[in-house]
Amino acid sequence: MKKANTLPEALNVMGITYRMVYHDNIAELGADEPFGWISTKKREMHIWTGNGVNFAWTTILHETLHAIGDLGRLAILECDGDKNRNHAEIDALATILADVLLRNDLVKR
Ligand SMILES: [Zn+2]
Repeated sequence: MKKANTLPEALNVMGITYRMVYHDNIAELGADEPFGWISTKKREMHIWTGNGVNFAWTTILHETLHAIGDLGRLAILECDGDKNRNHAEIDALATILADVLLRNDLVKR
């Protein structure tokens, strides 16, 4: 659990609290979404931390977009692994959002 001390232990998205689970070892995460994944049923996000806090934030925001897709019934943000044809756009949105939050010191790192 490297550098997880600056990352949130839980994340509230639209009133739903997700437990955050951090992994140094990328092999623990599985192949479908290698840098992170979300279980909307268990309300957990699993995030790889091996590439530093900034990258972890990008992954957290990627999974947050999936949470928003699930809670808001927004099919374009759905979480279904690589079957979601919008994954490139979701990645771009997560990268841009993380950049804005990090550049403006709106998140801890
Ligand atoms: Zn995804």
